[in-house]
Amino acid sequence: RDVTPRRDGRVDVLGLPRTRIRELFSRAGLDEKQAKLRAKQVYHWLYHRGAISFADMTDISKTMRPWLEERFVIGRPEVAEAQHSNDGTRKWLLRTDDGHEFEMVFIPDADRGTLCVSSQVGCTLNCTFCHTGTMRLVRNLTPGEIVGQVMLARDSLGEWPKGKMDVSDDADETEYRADGRLLTNIVMMGMGEPLYNFDNVRDALKLVMDGEGLALSKRRITLSTSGVVPAMARCGEEIGVNLAVSLHAVNKEVRDEIVPINRKYGLEELLQACADYPGASNSRRITFEYVMLKDKNDSDEDARRLVQLIKGIPAKINLIPFNEWPGAPHERSDWDRIQAFADIVYKAGYASPIRTPRGEDIMAACGQLKSATERARKSRRQIESEAGLG
Ligand code: SAH
Ligand code: SF4
Repeated sequence: RDVTPRRDGRVDVLGLPRTRIRELFSRAGLDEKQAKLRAKQVYHWLYHRGAISFADMTDISKTMRPWLEERFVIGRPEVAEAQHSNDGTRKWLLRTDDGHEFEMVFIPDADRGTLCVSSQVGCTLNCTFCHTGTMRLVRNLTPGEIVGQVMLARDSLGEWPKGKMDVSDDADETEYRADGRLLTNIVMMGMGEPLYNFDNVRDALKLVMDGEGLALSKRRITLSTSGVVPAMARCGEEIGVNLAVSLHAVNKEVRDEIVPINRKYGLEELLQACADYPGASNSRRITFEYVMLKDKNDSDEDARRLVQLIKGIPAKINLIPFNEWPGAPHERSDWDRIQAFADIVYKAGYASPIRTPRGEDIMAACGQLKSATERARKSRRQIESEAGLG
């Protein structure tokens, strides 16, 4: 895979692994030894220290820094708009170099801070309850644009580790906190279907997980899929992060309707792929997401069928009260209905947290993401042909 230079001819190194940076440096004229050393240094500054300019890389010689600056650039997604919810949730509307907009959300909690990362601009799928699903797929995000979200969040939260020189030895992690919170967890639950952009998501998450890079544990990363069955095993093997599956319905008829990928990969195949997911165990359970839609999937019978379906799979169930958006064809289930549903699931032995809607005042809740300027809605025909259903 080659790297497309920017309009000014410089190459963006953000999103590249160390070996690739080294190749580019030697192609630009450094000898092997230099290329290796400089790649190592640049990689460290890039992903571990969050440098956004070669000028800041103080252990690289003063003559080398301008040489790098002339040929390379360290990108970040451009921030088109930043919003702050009254519950502390933050949302950023970001813009790619070629002008497409996508979103990222940070959700602070008492014991963690979760970044919700996008994998695509728009989505080829069209789950009926999802705002992103009403957008066309504009394009896949690149590894740099995916890892760039995590880096931008760290920029905004002021969370890059200081170098050894900058802080006293006994300073602990908490001293790096801004907002009193750290970015501790990542969920691939922003815009898009991550398993339809597998290679880029994998390459980006490798950088996030690399101990010499962003160094976030794979146990703190969750990838959510609507059920791209053929890519699920690869996700476990090649990425190794936690898996969340957007189940949302317990029979073919309803799932075909609200999660249309079900017409391609049915419930049985999906649950088999979950049972086979590499690395799943009682200490690393698969999360089944279940959006609560009034009179659609929220009866006691649905709850009982749900626990039957997932029998034998190390699982937890995440109940998500439907987040409404203008023109949505569903309503949120009533609270007592959600509670009754949760009780059945809980009594069957599954953790069944009801996810508190966050950032609703800024339309940052799960499934509400849609770029503000993207007005193109899908036609029925387009939806069906994109999903391979037509
Ligand atoms: N494409 C992936 C990941 C992005 S969506 C997937 O579908 O899993 C992240 C989660 O939000 C999914 O479980 C999705 O079904 C859910 N979701 C989408 N729209 C929602 C809405 N309006 N209210 C509540 N949850 C929603
Ligand atoms: Fe795409 Fe996920 Fe939204 Fe479905 S729920 S339309 S797969 S982003």
